[in-house]
Amino acid sequence: MAEFDYDLFVIGGGSGGVRAARMSATYGAKVAVAEEFRYGGTCVIRGCVPKKLMVYASSYSEHFEDAAGFGWSVPEPSFDWPSLIAAKDAEIARLEGIYRRNLENADVTLYDHRAVLEDPHTIALDDGRRFRVRHILIATGGTPYVPPKTGAEHAITSNEVFHLEEQPKRILIVGGGYVACEFAGIFNGLGTEVFQIYRSDQVLRGFDREVRDHVADAMRARGIDLRVNEELGEIKKTNAGLVATTSGGRTLEVDQVMLATGRVPNTADLGLDEAGVAVGRHGEVLVDDYSQTSVPSIYAVGDVTDRLALTPVAIREGAAFAETVFNAEPTRADHEDVATAIFTQPEIGTVGVGEDEARKNGPIDVYRASFRAMVHTLSGRDERMLMKLIVARDSQRVIGCHIVGHGAGEMVQLAAVAVKMGATKADFDRTVAVHPTAAEELVTMREPVAET
Ligand code: FAD
Repeated sequence: MAEFDYDLFVIGGGSGGVRAARMSATYGAKVAVAEEFRYGGTCVIRGCVPKKLMVYASSYSEHFEDAAGFGWSVPEPSFDWPSLIAAKDAEIARLEGIYRRNLENADVTLYDHRAVLEDPHTIALDDGRRFRVRHILIATGGTPYVPPKTGAEHAITSNEVFHLEEQPKRILIVGGGYVACEFAGIFNGLGTEVFQIYRSDQVLRGFDREVRDHVADAMRARGIDLRVNEELGEIKKTNAGLVATTSGGRTLEVDQVMLATGRVPNTADLGLDEAGVAVGRHGEVLVDDYSQTSVPSIYAVGDVTDRLALTPVAIREGAAFAETVFNAEPTRADHEDVATAIFTQPEIGTVGVGEDEARKNGPIDVYRASFRAMVHTLSGRDERMLMKLIVARDSQRVIGCHIVGHGAGEMVQLAAVAVKMGATKADFDRTVAVHPTAAEELVTMREPVAET
């Protein structure tokens, strides 16, 4: 009898786990995956993909409004929530099927079960089956953090928001991270009255300060009642809906309260103690540069390691794991200069460091353009685009690129190639503009902003 049932057992069929499983199988490993919910994980089932579909849906209201300036007369538009949810669900089911088939086609064995560790080489499923395995990959992702507030059980999180039967007429969104801000924009665009509170002094912590201010102002200008330095008190259920109190002394009557107050690694009751796997303060699995945990046979990738919680990063970590363990090519996942988009309305695209962070590391020049995009000269919308380049003064390298406005996510993917290659400001300058676009501003910013 073989010593092990599998060369690799992956816990979690999300972005990181699926990539690692498929690649490892390609390299000849005998692989199994356990998934307790749905294949595709957070990104496909209740994260990036359904969210972006809802962002698209919500952005039509802006287009209907803006069309008038171009001569269109648009009849009073109406929106049907159940139609959107049904269409979105059908697409998610299709994608889930593709994930499942891709694994099966790679000869990966699938277990639609919860799995936990029993020791460094034993996996137990919730139906009582046990497997001896050579390597274990923990790819269990994260889960919404619910603060201990009275009445929190009446609130929803990003897990439930995709499945509401009715569109709320009024919603309170608690939180200031990208998920909170994106959903504020989604509901606002779909016609819901949106209140958003955040306990700190500005939303979108971790991003460039000016970008944060710009987006917060634009969200307010679009009708979101966004207040900072204000915390949730308690939530009560009444006949009329939910009543939430805030530290600002307000009592808000709403149909839904969404808690978007961060995410925590999905490691509760996973058997990490039993297997001897070291975890950090927030329950994150501690790993080295090769995603290996404190136990040599056990690795972890993706959100559960709390490094950079993004789908493409989880995928890269999964791929690096497979290269390292099953292709004899020790590979580190690269977490430097990872570009990202935030689908607020207006949208953000960003790569590299923000201005304040950059200043801590040495002298910089900041190039900045804030302008009305051409489309809004006729649409009449009073919204400006913002673009910033952060340049290290000594090396002249562009170490940060921040864009706010339509297409920012698409633009920054390409700017990220230049930043990753170490492009200097002079490289940007000698690149001829694409005209007429908004993106051309990125290569036509001549003078740095004067130091204040
Ligand atoms: P996950 O994709 O979370 O997969 C983990 C899987 O493990 C889940 O399917 C879970 O059911 C399963 N599981 C957990 N425990 C067990 C167990 N014991 N046994 C069996 N199965 C188990 N990232 C972006 O890059 N761009 C975006 O626009 C973006 N938008 C987001 C929007 C929202 C609302 C959220 C919540 C996240 C978003 N993210 C986005 C983050 C992205 O979804 C995650 O970074 C990514 O899914 C992480 O992949 P993962 O493989 O680590 O975990």
